[in-house]
Amino acid sequence: MSDSQVNLSRRQFFTRRDTLDKPALPWLKEAHFTDLCTQCGDCIKQCPTQIIRPGDGGFPRVDFHIDECTFCYQCAQACPEPLFLPQSEPAWQTKAIIKDSCLAYQNVDCRSCGDSCEPFAIRFKLAVGKVAQPHIDLSSCTGCGACVSVCPTSAIVVTYSEQEGANVTE
Ligand code: SF4
Ligand code: SF4
Ligand code: SF4
Repeated sequence: MSDSQVNLSRRQFFTRRDTLDKPALPWLKEAHFTDLCTQCGDCIKQCPTQIIRPGDGGFPRVDFHIDECTFCYQCAQACPEPLFLPQSEPAWQTKAIIKDSCLAYQNVDCRSCGDSCEPFAIRFKLAVGKVAQPHIDLSSCTGCGACVSVCPTSAIVVTYSEQEGANVTE
C-alpha cells in the first residue's frame, strides 16, 4: 500500500464520532479537520499551557488532564490551513460533565472543581444527609477544561455527549 493510500484510509477511519466525542481543538471547523490537517504540529508548539498533543491517528487534540485552555487563540493563528473559526465565535461546543466517581457523590467533601471554575459554572448545593453536591450550569460552562486536572478522582470530562454524565443543570 502506498503512503497516500495509508493516509486516505487513516483519514477515513478517524471520522467525527471516532475522534471527536472529546474535543480536539478550540474554534475548530470539525467537518474539515481530518481532511485538511497536515499534522504539521504548529498548533502544538504554540499552546502556552501545552495541552495540545498528538492524538488518535497523529491528529492534534487537547488533553485537559494536563491543564486548561486559556482562549489565547494562538493555536488557531499558528495553523496554516483554513481550519479555524474567528476568535469572536465560541471556542468550544463541548461541556463539562461529572461522572459517578466524584468524591462528593461518595459523601466525601471536595470542592476542587468549583474552586477552579472561573465562570462559576459549578455550584455546590446542600443535600440532606450528604455533603454538598456539585451541579454544572451548562449555559455558563465555557468548555475550558480547568476543572478536569484538579479533580482527584478524574471524575470530570469535557465532551459532546450528554449521555456520559448526569449531574448537570440546564
Ligand atoms: S486557545 Fe491557546 S490555550 Fe487554548 S488550546 Fe489554543 S493555544 Fe492552547
Ligand atoms: S497547525 Fe493546523 S494543520 Fe498543523 S497540526 Fe495543527 S491543526 Fe493540523
Ligand atoms: S469546563 Fe471550565 S467553565 Fe466548564 S465547568 Fe469546567 S472549569 Fe467551569
